[in-house]
Amino acid sequence: MYKTIIEPFKIKMVEPIAVTNEEQRIEFLEAAHYNPFQLDADSVMIDFLTDSGTSAMSAEQWSGIMRGDEAYAGSRSWQRMEEVVKKLTGFEFVLPTHQGRAAERIIYSALGGEGKTFISNTHFDTTRANIEFTGSEAIDIPIPEGTQPQSLHPFKGNMDVTKLRSIIEERGGESIGAVILTVTNNSGGGQPVSMSNAKDIRSICDEFDILFLLDCCRVAENAYFIREREDGYSELSYKQIAEQMFRLTDGAVMSAKKDGLVNMGGFLALKNKELAVECTNVLIITEGFSTYGGLSGRDMEAIAIGLEEVFDEKYLEYRMKSTKYLGDGLEAMGVPLLLPVGGHAVYIDAARFYPQIPAHEYPGQALACQLYLKGGIRAVEIGSVMFGKYDEQGELIPSPMELVRLAIPRRVYTQSHIEYVLEVFRDLKNEKNEISGYKITEEPRFLRHFTAHFEPLKGRV
Ligand SMILES: *Cc1c(COP(=O)(O)O)cnc(C)c1O
Repeated sequence: MYKTIIEPFKIKMVEPIAVTNEEQRIEFLEAAHYNPFQLDADSVMIDFLTDSGTSAMSAEQWSGIMRGDEAYAGSRSWQRMEEVVKKLTGFEFVLPTHQGRAAERIIYSALGGEGKTFISNTHFDTTRANIEFTGSEAIDIPIPEGTQPQSLHPFKGNMDVTKLRSIIEERGGESIGAVILTVTNNSGGGQPVSMSNAKDIRSICDEFDILFLLDCCRVAENAYFIREREDGYSELSYKQIAEQMFRLTDGAVMSAKKDGLVNMGGFLALKNKELAVECTNVLIITEGFSTYGGLSGRDMEAIAIGLEEVFDEKYLEYRMKSTKYLGDGLEAMGVPLLLPVGGHAVYIDAARFYPQIPAHEYPGQALACQLYLKGGIRAVEIGSVMFGKYDEQGELIPSPMELVRLAIPRRVYTQSHIEYVLEVFRDLKNEKNEISGYKITEEPRFLRHFTAHFEPLKGRV
């Protein structure tokens, strides 16, 4: 076996990267008020902001785009997407939506409302927002290991089923809107969920007659970890593993911008007819007719193909090994990480990388800025900038962890891009003691990480 992970594809079409130097990037970052979200994409060389909607489509998907059938009702492309989703999920009713959160709004407005509780391993932020918007409460119950950066538990994305039972017993089964299992657990570091955890949740939901939903954005990546780490799955294909997981649940919400390998799209799939009818009514009012949702025919064609390609064994192995390659390289040089490395991203523990920077001076923001200045790499702070709140005295209540996420777009960067990122980190590590923190000079009331302005505490960097 050779060690080099070759990309299991060759390149037919290229998109130039605007190569910049450090001097230019100092200007760009200052103009962006030291907030990488405010940078023009053209001034970024390696964009690790998100893996959502940033996948490169295949030649087959681009051909599908040309074959897309734009009929308003009953288009061929819809039939193809519906068939693929039905086969994969096993659910009878499939509703196309323009992205994941549209599916979330539809299902959670049907199930939610005052007095209802939703329980998840960790609600993704749009999931939580859509649930809370209906007046319901959203409770996260990851297993304890899930919030310890150094724990090497193989399934850190699991839900704490003991807590699940006690919350249900305390509040009563009829007040639970749904139990939502997010695979992989995006907000918990892209960590996988085991099949046995899903089975335990199924039996508790059966006992109390509660709806069990899968947030399946990264169900293929999760299947990879199950085959690698859980007993009894080594002989199954990744797709068979995903199919098994869907069949433990009553419905699924998907942002196809992740494992659908497309730039836009999603769906809601349901077992129960009554619920599906109610959701379809909302779909038609707010998204579009039931055979296209908010999507063009060509988008649905690309989703149908993407959902097949993502389970290709060679693709998925390359994908997961290349994420791990970046993680292993960083670990080998002593960069502190959230471990084990998850599926779609590598998370750096910025609090330990810059121990001299306290939380209220935002070590994660400092690292995100340094990555851009040194290497033109864009990453996202997931720490006290994103989650920090103020107490009544106006003091920062910091986030429990100060992380920086390097999310890897699918099929976009090659191993030499990753080698370059590792090289940049070597430099950052050498200079790490000289780096100081940031202060916020302007911030909005909600979701401040997107638009806040910063200033380096030690003058111009
Ligand atoms: C991205 C994501 C969503 C929301 O999907 P959008 O397509 O961005 O609207 C929901 N849940 C999880 C786990 C996600 O990663």
